[in-house]
Amino acid sequence: MIIITRPNATEEQIARVVTRVREFGLDAQISRGASRVIIGVIGPEALLREKPRGASRVIIGVIGPEALLREKPIASMAGVEAIVPVSKAYKLAARDSRGASSVSVGGVPVGGEEDVVLISGPCSVESREQILSIARIVKKSGAKILRGGAFKPRTSPYSFQGLREDGLRFLAEARAETGLPVITEIMDTRDLSVIEKYADCLQVGTRNMQNFSLLKEVGRSRLPVLLKRGFSATINDLIMSAEYILSEGNMNVILCERGIRTFETAARYTLDLSAVPLLKAKTHLPIIVDPTHAIGLREFVPQMSLAALAAGADALMIEVHDSPDLAKSDGDQALLPTVFDELVPQLRAVAAAIGRDL
Ligand code: PEP
Ligand code: MN
Repeated sequence: MIIITRPNATEEQIARVVTRVREFGLDAQISRGASRVIIGVIGPEALLREKPRGASRVIIGVIGPEALLREKPIASMAGVEAIVPVSKAYKLAARDSRGASSVSVGGVPVGGEEDVVLISGPCSVESREQILSIARIVKKSGAKILRGGAFKPRTSPYSFQGLREDGLRFLAEARAETGLPVITEIMDTRDLSVIEKYADCLQVGTRNMQNFSLLKEVGRSRLPVLLKRGFSATINDLIMSAEYILSEGNMNVILCERGIRTFETAARYTLDLSAVPLLKAKTHLPIIVDPTHAIGLREFVPQMSLAALAAGADALMIEVHDSPDLAKSDGDQALLPTVFDELVPQLRAVAAAIGRDL
């Protein structure tokens, strides 16, 4: 961290900043220019890489854990103009020297050098027969993981809210029959123990990406977490939310781009495919794409799926329904089984073109 003082900062103000830094048991190095003092705060994992040059600058390098200081209101101290962090705010999600990680979802690896994975199923678990039937269909087409919501985040409180534990039980039954591991959404910390009894992966949905209590709770779970990008969240916000989960000890986090809100209204959301290479460059976590919720229109889900794979997604999450007109949620965007089945060989071709298997 570098602390830059105002040109008119007094010696007393500079001394106070340095004292404050030293109160945390950190060490300070000071360099001076004609008009400004720059205080560099150096942590073990964040060595000051580049000292501002020029005769008019003064640098005070402070040695110690940077995070200790960042939380304190140094920025508002008299004489301080700006604080520039040197190291990244996210420590555990950062790519650094690590290669890409893969996360096991019930034995199916997602990310790293592994094959591209298809995750599919209905938006909601609606009945035992419905989830069993769709699980069989998507497995036959090539899906490796089954999705289905038992706790549904709905815009209206009068819409179908999910079958709760019954839905989880039906998902587990579908897994027992097909062998497909199960991903399902968690909305409330109070539901964690019941979901853990049945699921292989916890999904944190777009509306809860910054529900920090929920993030911390799933961070203490033994299950991997599929974290969907908030529809108004930046890429940095998404990484910081992942950091919440990682910092509680759960290293099995998968990031999901699912569309963001923009000025465009022709599609349900705008699929931000730039998130895929950007997240891959910034983090070591697996990155998957949900084209279904992004475009929200069944007709165009195949095109967006192909584009997402070309962009480097480690997995795709695609909703499929055998009678979408009767679906209790997201029927408009669910692929018909035949369309999904025809799409899979095209996805394989795109995966092969970028040197991956599916
Ligand atoms: C879902 O996967 O069905 C869902 C509700 O997703 P999102 O949180 O991205 O809207
Ligand atoms: Mn849905």
